[in-house]
Amino acid sequence: MKPILEDTFGRKHNYLRISLTDACNLRCLYCIPEEKMQVTPSHKMMSAREIFEISKIFVDKGVTKIRLTGGEPLVRSDAAEIIMALSTLPVELTISTNAVLADTFIDTFKKAGIQSVNVSLDTLDADEFYAITRRGDFHKIMDNIYLLLQEGFDVKVNMVVMKGVNADKINDFVEWTRLYPLHVRFIEFMPFAGNKWLWEKVFSLKEMLEKISTAFEIEKIDDKAHDTTKNYSVRGFKGKFGIISTMTAPFCGDCNRMRLTADGKMKNCLFSKEETDLLSAFRKQENILPLIEQCLQAKKAERGGQFDFEHIENRSMIRIGG
Ligand code: SAM
Repeated sequence: MKPILEDTFGRKHNYLRISLTDACNLRCLYCIPEEKMQVTPSHKMMSAREIFEISKIFVDKGVTKIRLTGGEPLVRSDAAEIIMALSTLPVELTISTNAVLADTFIDTFKKAGIQSVNVSLDTLDADEFYAITRRGDFHKIMDNIYLLLQEGFDVKVNMVVMKGVNADKINDFVEWTRLYPLHVRFIEFMPFAGNKWLWEKVFSLKEMLEKISTAFEIEKIDDKAHDTTKNYSVRGFKGKFGIISTMTAPFCGDCNRMRLTADGKMKNCLFSKEETDLLSAFRKQENILPLIEQCLQAKKAERGGQFDFEHIENRSMIRIGG
């Protein structure tokens, strides 16, 4: 039995989310600060080899699942090399992507044994997509979602739901699950540096369920262990939907996640103020395991110990890796 990274609340951490880059080919208004963002220079980012070696240390301590994220992980020029290297580790490897480039990675995903792909998509309307992402890739993404399904991947579609932006569209996504075996997940809008978050913009779990229930007869279905999603389905529909209620009904008690930013900083929570610089220590050939353990010991009970969300102290989401 492998050792497991445990925090002071007895939570066992076997899931590592790694950001490959803070660059992205979309400009989602809730993710990227409006002012011009400088992408981290490559010498400050983990190289492909460093990602592999650091991941191995986590895997030796019990990590069994790795998710690649970003920024947009697939814009990194050595993304395929990183995916293939990580696929040699005894982990479930998964990826979060906006799917703009997914068609060019189908073979790599298959070779790497990736079975499940999370795709972000916040509207089913091309004009609204442009307004949210400031890019015109809507049809490419839709094509790639259908391609991923056709190629046999489990596809989860993540929609960030914001009042006054796209909250009125959630039933379009539920309707989409009628004929397609998609797992749509509605995410409550979360606060990060520079994303103009306000409580008034959060469309809550309760409000989502009320809205969906006006149009569909829904039933609660089982959630998996450590699931961040409260899952539902509509009888007879091929897909299902879920709600990630980080803001109004957090699920921290069961958290098993750790994060590594593209510049090699470990975060014990999406909302943690503190970061632990693993990359600098790794480059000095120091043993980074004590740093990983200390970082985890400092993990707070809930949402990084931050409760004043309108004055959150954190990176922007694009620099954390969602
Ligand atoms: N580029 C990839 C993608 O599009 O999935 C990975 C990175 S993206 C930051 C990861 C996830 O974070 C996406 O599902 C995105 O919608 C979500 N996200 C970003 N900002 C958010 C916010 N303010 N509130 C809730 N979810 C957010």
